[in-house]
Amino acid sequence: MPELPEVETCRRALEPVLVGQEIGHYKHSGKRLREQATSPQMAELAGLTICALERRAKYLILRAQEEVILVHLGMTGQLFVSDHSVPWLDHEHWRLELSEGWLRYRDPRRFGMLIRCSAAELGSHPRIKDLGPEPLHASWTDEDFIAACKRSQRPIKTLIMDATTVVGVGNIYAAEALFAAGIDPRRRASAIAPRRLKRLKLEIIRVLNRALDSGGSTVRNFVSSDGAPGYFAQQLAVYGREHKACRTCDRPLSLIRLGGRSTVFCRRCQR
Ligand SMILES: [Zn+2]
Repeated sequence: MPELPEVETCRRALEPVLVGQEIGHYKHSGKRLREQATSPQMAELAGLTICALERRAKYLILRAQEEVILVHLGMTGQLFVSDHSVPWLDHEHWRLELSEGWLRYRDPRRFGMLIRCSAAELGSHPRIKDLGPEPLHASWTDEDFIAACKRSQRPIKTLIMDATTVVGVGNIYAAEALFAAGIDPRRRASAIAPRRLKRLKLEIIRVLNRALDSGGSTVRNFVSSDGAPGYFAQQLAVYGREHKACRTCDRPLSLIRLGGRSTVFCRRCQR
């Protein structure tokens, strides 16, 4: 599933290609995504010039003058650019014509979203307004994070995966950051010492940055004439390694369910 680093890598790859292009026709496969702007809404964008591709949590925000489209990649979405000549791929759902080529969206499982609003409405949009701080932005402070933990009786892993605490920490990155910080994912958030919470915050930032670095090499895949981009794997310490040897102490890693999510951790190294 595309997580924050994949979405940010997609943004970095596409922004220089998209900015300055004029929008033309919109075409749609006829199949609905989880949320899908109507064809008349999308047709209103014709003639506008793209001025930015931003990101908030896992939403890509394409700005065209005073109008905005939000793209969420869901479970299997792929957003990419290609030239004029290419036929529709299987599971391709919409295309937006550009001065040079097409912006295209493919999504086999159709959990993705395409949302239209005005730039003025964006901050109060229901999908955006309650989002917490961005983990890679300086506005996410130690003090805010510690205060959020001190207020919560929930397990720490559940809390850091809640987008009102901090956005973009999916199951993979939560598990990896907790392992790196040596914190048991089941620990009640309010019971963890501030010093350890600071360390956890640092490890969340590190694991996301490491994924971003590994994604850099796949950037060219987002602008291709013959296919859609894939997502990248990185060296993981715990996620997906249940019952395998802990890389620190060599004991088998445990698998539990926590907050409805599979959770792998080391009972010895994480306390
Ligand atoms: Zn261990």
